[in-house]
Amino acid sequence: MENFKKDITKREFIKRCAAFSAGVTIIPKALYGSEELAEEQASGRKEAMFQEETARGIMCRICPNECVLKEGELSKCNNRKVIRSKLYTLAYGNPCSVNVDPIEKKPLYHFLPGSRAYSIATAGCNLVCLNCQNWTISQTSPDKTRNFSLPPEKVVSEAGAKICRSIAYTYSEPVTFYEYAYDTAVLAKKAGIKNVFKSNGYIYPEPLKKLCNVIDAANIDLKAFNEGTYLKLSGGKFQPVLDALKIYLDSGVWLEITNLVVPTWTDKSEEIYRMCKWLSENGFKNVPVHFSRFYPTYKLEQLPPTPVDILNKAAQIASSEGLNYVYTGNVPGSEISDTKCPGCKTTLIVRQGFRVAENSLKDGKCPKCGKSIDGVWN
Ligand code: SF4
Repeated sequence: MENFKKDITKREFIKRCAAFSAGVTIIPKALYGSEELAEEQASGRKEAMFQEETARGIMCRICPNECVLKEGELSKCNNRKVIRSKLYTLAYGNPCSVNVDPIEKKPLYHFLPGSRAYSIATAGCNLVCLNCQNWTISQTSPDKTRNFSLPPEKVVSEAGAKICRSIAYTYSEPVTFYEYAYDTAVLAKKAGIKNVFKSNGYIYPEPLKKLCNVIDAANIDLKAFNEGTYLKLSGGKFQPVLDALKIYLDSGVWLEITNLVVPTWTDKSEEIYRMCKWLSENGFKNVPVHFSRFYPTYKLEQLPPTPVDILNKAAQIASSEGLNYVYTGNVPGSEISDTKCPGCKTTLIVRQGFRVAENSLKDGKCPKCGKSIDGVWN
């Protein structure tokens, strides 16, 4: 962070500090010049997958926004454009954020605990969440961010060199840099490196099923549990996210779910109860659920952080509905971030922040009662 202080205004410095705390690296112009940090922004162009010609223009079939674009128009996610009658992604090989993170930060608690994830994001998102933590990169386009030049093969080699067991497509919205993530995941898989998606789950079945062939784990945000709130809070529809969750579950990709509990928006016990009941009745009992604490940000800066009591209550509701692995997130010192055996309640994994302090699992089983604990442990 120290280097970033040079040659920037106070305002810019504060902006970067905010982005840094959200786990995002923004590359200042002053640091350009090395081989790794390319000036060339146009290199992110590649013909898009799942495009269809219609009478109204070129339609993108990746997500339920179904953008139909005419020549030169930019998509809702800010990183697709029609150029000479073809749809192109502008987010191929040009991530604006590159970090090595603990896998717990995604959060993925039952997937290679204590391992490192080589984490990348390009600019752009297909939703417009009022509470977006990473809005400085999600609500803009690749030509407005400072980018690395990092083609898929280089992501894989860098991940290997940095002893990362997985590559995480994260921070902004990987659905919108689908081609880049997909091609990278194919190469990573061949190299024995796992692939993980941190996503809003706003994706159509066909591209998702294709993606599930090459990724190993996903943490999907379930932002609310009713259509009206989904639309107002994030600008998206509710049902497609439920459909995507079912596809992930059936695909064999390791799945975890995050629900950000936003005061006055998604903190009602009755709604949390309906969400947990749905999860319980639809085969998600062994899918870890993370109730995450909201901190004031972006367009919801006027709200207070989520009271810890509300998060604890949400966890209680989830457990009483039969969900076996329930966590609270962004609550320092909470025991609800530890993994307990659903059988005998022995504490198996102790976490301090994103660090695994203790892990007593034996071959994926509880050492006390022998119960198999759901997850990918090796
Ligand atoms: S991925 Fe982007 S371009 Fe495609 S439909 Fe969604 S918002 Fe539109």
